Amino acid sequence: MSIEVQDIDSVFHISEPWYIERCVFDEEKECLHCYISFRKGATFSCSNCGQEHQKVYDIADHNRTWRHLNFFEYPCYIHAELPRTECINCGKIHRVHVPWAIKRRSNFTLLFDAWIIAMAKDMPMSAISRLVKEHDTQLWRILHYYVDQAIAVQDLSHVTMIGTDETSAKKGHNYVTIFMDLKKKNVIHVTKGKDSSTWEECKKHLESHGGSSEKVRYQRCRWICPLLLLREQQKTFPMQPLPLINSTSFRL
Ligand SMILES: [Zn+2]
Repeated sequence: MSIEVQDIDSVFHISEPWYIERCVFDEEKECLHCYISFRKGATFSCSNCGQEHQKVYDIADHNRTWRHLNFFEYPCYIHAELPRTECINCGKIHRVHVPWAIKRRSNFTLLFDAWIIAMAKDMPMSAISRLVKEHDTQLWRILHYYVDQAIAVQDLSHVTMIGTDETSAKKGHNYVTIFMDLKKKNVIHVTKGKDSSTWEECKKHLESHGGSSEKVRYQRCRWICPLLLLREQQKTFPMQPLPLINSTSFRL
């Protein structure tokens, strides 16, 4: 049985020309479905070049669905017809951007993404997956997307102290080396392996984000490095090795 939910517009903050056509609670499946439409004659910005006031060309998807936050303890889904515009400026036909989601191919709303990221700071993804009733593979994709975005605009010009640690990424001997900014206590780079080439990778990453290996004065390694590895590190970064630290206080 389905129950119509009335006057719920202010809860979702849907902006014009979009509006909530109806909201239905599915008692059997225990979830809320919110159907959103756009005003007749509405125009949209071109999602390719940003040209404003483009007319609707056609409907690319008649039931595009996004997972939204929970409504009380029940999952909520947003449904909408997704229009395309044919741009007078760039001539491209593109699906419009909807205000409740920023990733074109994602099946999650922006607020759902924010919810997952907030929980991921304190909870394992498997527990979040059980809580929100979504597969953890999908949730990892959300996290990867925002981490990649953050890394792309990372400014490492301030970095003068780097620490390292190595850990196994999976069962077995799939090691990754983690490089940390010891002053800001942030992870600045993670790379596969644990040999001397990881230092060269770190140097490349540092210098491609405004940093300089010449400015890095100190390093601390959790484990005592083999002599050859240590020499390679010193070749890459002209710095003094210091005693080990406990890396658990760094944000990954
Ligand atoms: Zn355009």
